[in-house]
Amino acid sequence: MKLSQRVTNLEPSVTLAATAKAKALKAQGLDVINLTVGEPNFTTPENIEQAAVEGIKSGKVSFYTPSGGTPELKSAIVDFTEKNYGLTIEPKNIIVTSGAKFALYTLFQSILDAGDEVIIPVPYWVSYGEQVKLAQGNPVFVKGEQSNDYKITIDQLEAARTEKTKAIIINSPSNPTGMIYTENELREIGEWAVGHDLLIVSDDIYDHLVYNGNEAKHLASLSDEIFHHTVIINGVSKTYSMTGWRIGYAIGNAEIIGAMTSIASQATSNPASVSQTAAVEALAGEQETAEKMRRAFEDRLNTIYPKVADLPGFKLKKPQGAFYLFPNIQEAMAMGGYDNVTTWVNDLLEQEHVALVTGEGFGSSDSVRMSYSARMEDLEEAVVRIRRFIENSK
Ligand code: PLP
Repeated sequence: MKLSQRVTNLEPSVTLAATAKAKALKAQGLDVINLTVGEPNFTTPENIEQAAVEGIKSGKVSFYTPSGGTPELKSAIVDFTEKNYGLTIEPKNIIVTSGAKFALYTLFQSILDAGDEVIIPVPYWVSYGEQVKLAQGNPVFVKGEQSNDYKITIDQLEAARTEKTKAIIINSPSNPTGMIYTENELREIGEWAVGHDLLIVSDDIYDHLVYNGNEAKHLASLSDEIFHHTVIINGVSKTYSMTGWRIGYAIGNAEIIGAMTSIASQATSNPASVSQTAAVEALAGEQETAEKMRRAFEDRLNTIYPKVADLPGFKLKKPQGAFYLFPNIQEAMAMGGYDNVTTWVNDLLEQEHVALVTGEGFGSSDSVRMSYSARMEDLEEAVVRIRRFIENSK
């Protein structure tokens, strides 16, 4: 059977592949420290699990729900958005999806025709470009320079814009760099997009995972006009350690949300009912446990960042959010005679059993992504092993 052109051109997720490889080696008995993961390493808070158990026992979660999400969850999202963004929205502005990833998927399917362009800042989250391609669009990559904290500028955006440009994606805090755009930078980007009537896809999934007094402003909150040009992507996966429950959502104008809901109705019918019940508790219940998890990430960042920054040939500024370090390791590679970052990552895994993700998957051939969603002792041991690997490879 000949597979479709679409799928033949598709790159599978490098992060999921790296995680799978690390887990497979661990299953063979190797002492692998896995720093590839894109999810919090905490179990879901108990009050959320309890709400799901009660939902199951009541029998209410046995059935299909409306395609765009239950009224209870939409109502919790309305209240949460008012608190979190200062925005007043209605249920018709919301779609609940099987993870934020599927919100993005239905969005690109809803807004793109063949050849339409979407501007994607580099380094990018692995799925943006592939999802745009799946919708027959063309990703246009714009490189954020390390000297500018990997953030793109209006001049760069203007140089990338064509008459086919339909949308731009902003992910702040960023996966993989952990960098945050300032309010002024966001306003400039927002006004530029409004001025050219482009849609802003604001992926705010890490908005609560921000450290050391930094603050992640929301693009959509900066003005009515910007809000009307924005689709917000968010979800419970990262803030509430609920990646396995698969609940994300999008907020935007009713026409786009309606189109996304039609696609979802034909693709999945609805996100899992029990997960929606759990997500209501996540958003409307106590927030102290989520805050404790955030503080644990902050501690790890503050402990591990100086040690990683001190590794020979590693260059990085301290991230402000998310739970990744994205060092430029060009000099460390050169010390060992490497000219390919993926080979460096593979050799590190083979020789020292530390699993990182190659920067190639994020559009960056001189960096690696190191998740600090791991136990502190594993993070510290990983640094020792990476140092040994660099020194032995000289
Ligand atoms: N956006 C970014 C930047 C992410 O890193 C992720 C997950 O890794 C997602 C969206 C999707 O999250 P989920 O589908 O688990 O809600």
